[in-house]
Amino acid sequence: MEIKRGVAVSPGVAIGPAWILDREEVNVRQRFIATGTYPQEIERLDRAIEAAAREAREVQRVVADRLGEQYGAIFGAHAALIEDPRLRQEIASEIRYHSYTAEQALDRVIRRRLRALASLNDRIIADRQSDLRDIEKRLLRQLAGQRHEQLQKLTEPVVLLAHDLTPSETAQLDRQHILGFATEVGGRTSHTAIVANALGIPAVVGLGMFLTDVSGGDLVIVDGNRGVVILDPDEETLQHYRRIQQAQVGHERELDELRNLPAVTRDGVRIYLLGNIEFPEEAAQILERGADGVGLYRTEFLYLGRKEDPTEQEHFEAYLKVLRQLPGKPIVIRTLDVGADKFSSVTDPEIQERNPFLGVRSLRLCLRNKNLFRVQLRAILRASAYGDIRIMFPMVSTISELREAKLLLYDVMEELSEEKVPFNHRIPVGTMIEVPSAALMAEGLAKEVDFFSIGTNDLIQYVLAADRTNENVAYLYSASDPAVLRLIDHVVRAAERAGISVNVCGEMSAEPMYAFVLIGLGLRQLSAAPHAIPEVKRLVRSITIEEARRAAETVLQMETAQDITTYLRDQIRRILPEALAI
Ligand code: PEP
Ligand code: MG
Repeated sequence: MEIKRGVAVSPGVAIGPAWILDREEVNVRQRFIATGTYPQEIERLDRAIEAAAREAREVQRVVADRLGEQYGAIFGAHAALIEDPRLRQEIASEIRYHSYTAEQALDRVIRRRLRALASLNDRIIADRQSDLRDIEKRLLRQLAGQRHEQLQKLTEPVVLLAHDLTPSETAQLDRQHILGFATEVGGRTSHTAIVANALGIPAVVGLGMFLTDVSGGDLVIVDGNRGVVILDPDEETLQHYRRIQQAQVGHERELDELRNLPAVTRDGVRIYLLGNIEFPEEAAQILERGADGVGLYRTEFLYLGRKEDPTEQEHFEAYLKVLRQLPGKPIVIRTLDVGADKFSSVTDPEIQERNPFLGVRSLRLCLRNKNLFRVQLRAILRASAYGDIRIMFPMVSTISELREAKLLLYDVMEELSEEKVPFNHRIPVGTMIEVPSAALMAEGLAKEVDFFSIGTNDLIQYVLAADRTNENVAYLYSASDPAVLRLIDHVVRAAERAGISVNVCGEMSAEPMYAFVLIGLGLRQLSAAPHAIPEVKRLVRSITIEEARRAAETVLQMETAQDITTYLRDQIRRILPEALAI
């Protein structure tokens, strides 16, 4: 038995025979053409480009119908890449001047681009590499006159293992036959991860090289809850996971029944459970899972797969779409959090950063790029005339920065008033607390806003100086770390003193053991991915505030993440013995 650890991107457990997707699905056999025949070869290339672009557009249509426009747009961008005249020119030159076959020329050009991207050593760019591989495969398939039908030919349920899966391969996976998948590369924010989550296929990515350790047909377990893949499991592990799977089915049915029950502790305290969404289409899940509203709408996903910035109207329509699906419910719209690991296409190409997580990302980028920011602020304000919209600024580091953002917001309000455009003049304004400086200055920040939302995903990485996307420092990156918990405690106390509400919208809220300690620290609002809401609700309904408070007091006295994790796990085993992802 071998255990591999990666990044959990889509929850659930899959057990089945491995099916390995060949790294070189299309062989490039013939390398050269006869001298003087390059015009015919270039014509062949042109036909392939046309057909591949048509195919990508067709995928765009199918995916848009199945999952929504935002997902389809990924393949619209692929079509545009395939048709890029510079790409065609580069390949045609290789054919003309080196007598390479179209396949060989394409291979050389794509490899060159991949190398150039790899030399930038940037994670988001790594995600773009899979887009390039995707279009290469599409073109090669056309050139070879053969369709890549491997994935479609499956007749038995399997666990798919691959070096990488492109977004289009993922979006077209057949849920009947693909029980789960695991890849060697990939990060949390890759298109592949986003699509896997939307399809509900358990998935783990970023496992590092492991395909050489496994053969097709070997038994594999993909644990999408914990980001673990087990090759050739021993009998005990297999039984353990089979029990989890069985429990999961019954458990989900039970959780479904919780949908219409309030999230109230055994001693009668109401906890507000909100959902995190990336796309307007996900708003339906907020209702399905019995959440109280949207605690975090990551609006930067409007940029997914696009070359042009979304217009004010596109922003506005996306917000209204969420609003219409959730009448009367609060919707916290977070302003653009682009840069670093997310959608760097909108970041300024002039800025070459050694350390993007500490660079011009998020609010910093918006304040440098006020026109871009104003477009979004106008759209949010306009949408606020139609429902309970709240606005939240991400990555605030200083009070001055928050003030600058607010000034811009007021300026946009004035502009809309002059234009007689309706909006909510009292729109609640909040700030995320996800930078240690903001946490330490919570007292002052609290005077400036109506609410706080603690972004533990980033707060943990900045407190511990451990990149949240780097598996090599994952041992440091822990929500159990006493420094993290003490800082959260500090923020909650500041919010309480100022009489403003405070929420936690990082992944921490989604895990029962952390939800328990957060409630103990005084949190009365938690925001998590919609699929996690029922489990957190079950926890809330199983505890008393008093026991949560005692647990929080205990962990605040502890000195290591290990001790805290052990203690909290024991508590959860006692409270929710059937809880899964622990
Ligand atoms: C966070 O940092 O905790 C958060 C919720 O934001 P994101 O994961 O989008 O950075
Ligand atoms: Mg964040």
